[in-house]
Amino acid sequence: MDHKVLFRNELIGPTIRHAAGKSAFYGRHLGKKAFSVNDVADLSILPTTNKSMLRELLLSELLTSDEPPLLVQHTSGTTDRPFNVYRGKAEVDFIQAFFEGTFDPLGDADIGILALQPLYHGEAIPINVQAEYLNINVDDMSKSGDIIKDVSEKILNAGNKPIIITGIFQHIKILTCELIKNGYNFSSSPVVGLFVTGQYVSEHWRSELTSVWNAKTTPRFSLTEGFGGAIYCERCRAYHFDQFMVAEVLSPFTLEPVTDGVGLLHITSLYPFVQLMPFIRYRTNDIVKVRETECTSGHEASVVFLGRWDHAAVVDFGNGGGVVVPPSIIHDILEKDALANTGGLSDRASLNGAGSPCFRLRMSEIPAQVLNIDIEIRVLPWMYPDSCQAFSEKILAELSLQAPHIMHSLQSYGFDVRINLLSPGSLGPTEPGSIPEDSMYEKS
Ligand SMILES: [Zn+2]
Repeated sequence: MDHKVLFRNELIGPTIRHAAGKSAFYGRHLGKKAFSVNDVADLSILPTTNKSMLRELLLSELLTSDEPPLLVQHTSGTTDRPFNVYRGKAEVDFIQAFFEGTFDPLGDADIGILALQPLYHGEAIPINVQAEYLNINVDDMSKSGDIIKDVSEKILNAGNKPIIITGIFQHIKILTCELIKNGYNFSSSPVVGLFVTGQYVSEHWRSELTSVWNAKTTPRFSLTEGFGGAIYCERCRAYHFDQFMVAEVLSPFTLEPVTDGVGLLHITSLYPFVQLMPFIRYRTNDIVKVRETECTSGHEASVVFLGRWDHAAVVDFGNGGGVVVPPSIIHDILEKDALANTGGLSDRASLNGAGSPCFRLRMSEIPAQVLNIDIEIRVLPWMYPDSCQAFSEKILAELSLQAPHIMHSLQSYGFDVRINLLSPGSLGPTEPGSIPEDSMYEKS
C-alpha cells in the first residue's frame, strides 16, 4: 500500500478522538461516531464542518486546550472576511521535531531557498530549513528598486548554489516583471525552480513563468486552516495531496463522495501536526475535479483546481443534481484573448491589480433563466461593436467546446448563457474571477 495512505490511516483515529475528546464543539458534533473511525474510509460517517459554522463558536468551545496559542495565523480573506487560525506549542514543537529529525524536505541537497514572505497570513510556523526570507510589499510600487536590489543581492550571495524561489503567485509575477524591466539576465540565473502558492495558477501562467525563468514552475495548494497541501505534478498536470492531510471531494448538492467529476474539497488536518484547532471534514470552498485515471508516476488519484466556490455560478436542480460553472473555465478562455486579458509580465501596473482577466459569473431568473458572464474588456464596448460581437461568439463557441456537459445541462434545464461585456474598471481590480464585495451575484 502507498506510504501516504498508511501514514494517514495511522493518524486518522487519533486525530478524530483528539478533536472529540478535547474540544467541546467536536465532542458534540462528532458524537459517538468518533470512536468508529479507524481508517480514512470511515470518515464519511462523520458530519462535515465549514468556515461559518466554526466562526460562530466561542474559542473555548472550539479549541482543544485553554492554553494561550503560540501562533495566530489568518486566511487572506480573498472571498470572505479573514478567519483566525490558532496554533499551540505542542503542535509547533512536534512539527519542528518532525522536520528536524526524520523528514528533511531538502535531504542533503545543497540548495538555497529564497522565500518571498506573504505579509498578511500572520505568524508562520518556524521550520528549520535553510531559507533566506525576503519581505516584499508589492503594493508599494515606489519600493520596486529596493525589491530588485534585495533579490539580486540574495541571488548573488548564493554563489553557484542553485536557488529555489517560493512565494505567492502574485508576488512571483511582480518580481518577474520587475526583473524583466531591470534587464535581469535570466539565462545565467542560478534559479532552478519556482514554487508558487496562494491562488489558482493557470497552465498559461505556469508555462509563461517556466519559459521566462527557464526553471521548473511548480504550483502548490495550501491553506491556513490545515497543515500540508497538494503539489502540482507535471506528469498528470494535476495535484497530489501530501500525507499530512486527508482530502475528500464531495458533491455540493448531496455531500456524497465524488470519485470521478467535480465537487467541493473537504480537508481533515492530521494530529499531531494540528492540535489546538482541529479541522475535521472542513469545507474549503475550492472546486476541484477528481481525475478519472491514476497518475503514471504511481501516486494516488489526483485533482485539478477549478477556482473558488464563491466565484462560481451554481444551479441547484433540487433533486440531488445541479450544475457548477467553475471560474477557471472562463478564466482560461479569457486569458488567451487580448481583449479581456488585463496584462502580462510586461505590464507592472496591471499586475499590481490582478494581472488576470476580470469577470464574474451570476445567475438571473427574471425575465428568463440566464447564466450571465460579465467580462471587463480593455476598450469601451460601444466603440467596437463588431469586435465585441465576434468576441462574445468566440467565448460561447469555446465554452461549448471545452465544457459541453455544462452547456448541455444548462440548456436542458432552460438556462440561457449571456455574455455581457463591460467597460474598463467596471468590476475593479480583483482576484481572478472574483466578485467585488459590493456586488454579490444573484442566487438562482
Ligand atoms: Zn501525477
